[in-house]
Amino acid sequence: MSKKVVIIGGGIVGLATAYRLLQVHPGTEVAVVEKEAGPGRHQTTHNSGVLHAGLYYKPGSLKALLAVSGIREMVRFCRDNGIAHEICGKLVVATSPEEEGRLQALHRRGLKNGLLGLRLLGRKELREIEPYAVGCAALHVPEEGIVDYAQVCACLAQKIQELGGTLLFKTRVTGLTEADTGWHIQASERETMQADFLINCAGLYSDRMAQAAGEKLKTKIVPFRGEYFKLRPERQFLVKNLIYPVPDPTFPFLGVHFTRLICGGIEAGPNAVLAFAREGYRKQDVNVRDLAESLGFDGLWRFLARHRKMCWNEFCRSWSKPLFCAALQRLVPEVRMEDLLPGGSGVRAQAMTPSGELVQDFVLVRIRNALHVINSPSPAATASLAIASEILARLDKE
Ligand SMILES: Cc1cc2nc3c(=O)[nH]c(=O)nc-3n(C[C@H](O)[C@H](O)[C@H](O)COP(=O)(O)OP(=O)(O)OC[C@H]3O[C@@H](n4cnc5c(N)ncnc54)[C@H](O)[C@@H]3O)c2cc1C
Repeated sequence: MSKKVVIIGGGIVGLATAYRLLQVHPGTEVAVVEKEAGPGRHQTTHNSGVLHAGLYYKPGSLKALLAVSGIREMVRFCRDNGIAHEICGKLVVATSPEEEGRLQALHRRGLKNGLLGLRLLGRKELREIEPYAVGCAALHVPEEGIVDYAQVCACLAQKIQELGGTLLFKTRVTGLTEADTGWHIQASERETMQADFLINCAGLYSDRMAQAAGEKLKTKIVPFRGEYFKLRPERQFLVKNLIYPVPDPTFPFLGVHFTRLICGGIEAGPNAVLAFAREGYRKQDVNVRDLAESLGFDGLWRFLARHRKMCWNEFCRSWSKPLFCAALQRLVPEVRMEDLLPGGSGVRAQAMTPSGELVQDFVLVRIRNALHVINSPSPAATASLAIASEILARLDKE
């Protein structure tokens, strides 16, 4: 193992990687370089807080393998470290005969992926679990749950320091130069750092960091914002735990759903709309460079042309509360417009190919003295410890 490893990005994937590295290779010098003032300030804490068990992903894919092992590792980590979490189970609800067919396919996929305790339910049984949900059938996923990812990050950060690692906050990596035996890393307000090995976990900027390291990637990160409402406290009885729709299999996004939060409250969302800034949490956030890059990418236009209807629907839903509410009412008809209060949002770092495909799987690219995490969308928070183990396995291979 290399002597000095620098990890770019102190989100959950970067932190988990640093932690595993220090555990498995004690004595390695590990520094996590993060541009924000603390850990996990972007995707990691702007998400639904769900522990996904690996239901949706293509059997044999990295996502399926790492989600299934990842949730088990994450639950163990939370249990061992007193982190708030709860295995409350999830219902995926079919609201039409067509969706029922897809639900059955999802059930078979979940079984192939090795999920435990999956059960197909009829109309009556689903209401025993979620009394206000309505559908013709549902799939109960008992292994799934909710967690506080901010607490997971705080715990990982503490462990990294206890094991001798360094966390450099408020430090933005601005340039990477490959040297004979490693890297020179330019960062804001610091002298150039040296590293033998580089791990790029920069999330929404992972493609830019890979480019800065001299890689010519075909894919680009396209930011998709997900917006949430929250249920008014006196109407939270409408949702017990997690109620999801049957997702469209051509998209990695799961469709607006209801999520109970571990810290209390119920969230409804997220939708998926193109963000005009990589860290554009509000509709009005625009970053000229980010937007120009997205619009100058052929892949985005091909994607928009191919999925015109879906993109238009998502756009309209983003601007129209009645449409957002209508999507939620398909799952829980008693939800009313006045029950929905403004919620937060998150921006997904989604890799897209030049032909306009959304990359579904996790993508880790090992090139010489660097490993780039090129695509780590949902459920990478759940699977972060398993992704870290996979990164280590790839480093140890050579
Ligand atoms: C709306 C939404 C809902 C989601 N729901 C779930 C869910 O319920 N369950 C689940 O498992 N997953 C969910 N996900 C996905 C999950 O949040 C992400 O897959 C995961 O957080 C990715 O972690 P990361 O460390 O790769 O990225 P991030 O958390 O984005 O971390 C990357 C870090 O890199 C830093 N960085 C970037 N560039 C630089 C630079 N130049 N120098 C220094 N630092 C830099 C950033 O500041 C950031 O902190 C959701 C995501 C979104 C957006």
